[in-house]
Amino acid sequence: MEEEGYIADFNGIEKPGDYFHRLRDEIQNYNEKFHAFNFIPEKLEEGFPFSVKDNICVKGVETTASSRILSGYLPPFDATVVRRVKEKGFSFIGKTNMDEFGFGSFGINTDISARNPFDEDRVAGGSSSGAAVATALIKYHIAIAESTGGSISNPASFCGVVGFTPTYGAVSRYGLIDYANSLDKIGLMARSVKDIEFVFDIMKGKDEHDSTSVDRKIENKKSRKITVIDEMIEGVDEDIKRSFDSLLGKLETQGYKISHISLKEIGISGPVYYIISMAEASTNLAKFSGFKYGLKVEDFSLDYNTFFTNARDAFGEEAKRRIILGTFVRAASVRARYYQKALSLRALLIRKMREILKDSYILSPTMPIKAPKIKDVEKLTPVQNYMLDILTIPPNLCGFPHISFPYDYIDGLPIGAQVITDHFNDKALFSFVEDWENNFTYKFKYNLGEI
Ligand code: GLN
Repeated sequence: MEEEGYIADFNGIEKPGDYFHRLRDEIQNYNEKFHAFNFIPEKLEEGFPFSVKDNICVKGVETTASSRILSGYLPPFDATVVRRVKEKGFSFIGKTNMDEFGFGSFGINTDISARNPFDEDRVAGGSSSGAAVATALIKYHIAIAESTGGSISNPASFCGVVGFTPTYGAVSRYGLIDYANSLDKIGLMARSVKDIEFVFDIMKGKDEHDSTSVDRKIENKKSRKITVIDEMIEGVDEDIKRSFDSLLGKLETQGYKISHISLKEIGISGPVYYIISMAEASTNLAKFSGFKYGLKVEDFSLDYNTFFTNARDAFGEEAKRRIILGTFVRAASVRARYYQKALSLRALLIRKMREILKDSYILSPTMPIKAPKIKDVEKLTPVQNYMLDILTIPPNLCGFPHISFPYDYIDGLPIGAQVITDHFNDKALFSFVEDWENNFTYKFKYNLGEI
């Protein structure tokens, strides 16, 4: 695999002797305004810069998933993806901000919210908010991020970068602080899909530490057909709808055949996703009890309830909400009605979507809205929040690979489209977006580290 894109450019350019020192200071300065990073190392090694979402372990570096309950946690090992990328000479530049444990869509469930580089009053998206902001700020850089229900696509689209979520199982999750094990995928964000393809080849493949990782050939079965699912366009803001229509027009002139179909099962994907993800999250968070994991209360004279209440009080509000709801849907008395039903509806949706993906891509806007103002998002109810994930949830719920790429700018804000393909056909997405990049130039307001 040859280096292309920004990685090739970077490695081909002579850099001043103090380049990495200056880059570090620049990132630190800008971080005071944009809050992309939870942690920046004192000194950067030489190599192409990469950042790591704060729910992925980096040896000896505080890893908190933006949760107070994990403050001070220093992993004694690197996550497999981090180890593999380091071994290829990439340079670690920091841990990126996120919604606590991945719970959120706007990057606001954290101590200090990351800011959108196109307009600082607006959100960066979530939950991988910092990864997207870092990518939009730093010219030569790739972000290792993670998605459960849209955490890569969503912030990538709000911040105008490319965000790739691989097929479930194509990349090892070893060293990831789990949100929902049957849904979590480690992926990438970059300024060009070429860099994503290069680093994905380094990260992917079987890992003996993760039994769900597989050694399947990643295909590049291209298609000239695009399917648009009517239900995925219904709730989209008018200005985004108009611009998406013109994207379809452009793709048609580039030789794609576009067809529109109805798939009413798409409507169930939101509730199904939140039932499954919360059920799994509530079991994953049970271990943070203050004994082996989580905030250490260390006062063993306290009675049982007070001890655990103190230890678990460090969870944020959204985490607490999900523990309660997730525990409820798993309860013996209602399990068949919610959790088990959700599992069978997920299987149904996978079947329905695979039929479409047999010989075509599925394309939609990534988000139904432009990046909203932080103050407006704070007024949303939890359910209004959850509903905004309606376009990113279907591929995530079904484990299909997908990429969000910037395709237009409305009122100075970037918007993204999301292309989905069948399991283990991830490389076809790279081909699709590469063709797009040959005809379209992404805009960036900042170019930290430019040489
Ligand atoms: N917004 C979705 C949620 O809160 C997805 C987040 C994610 O992919 N981690 O669950």
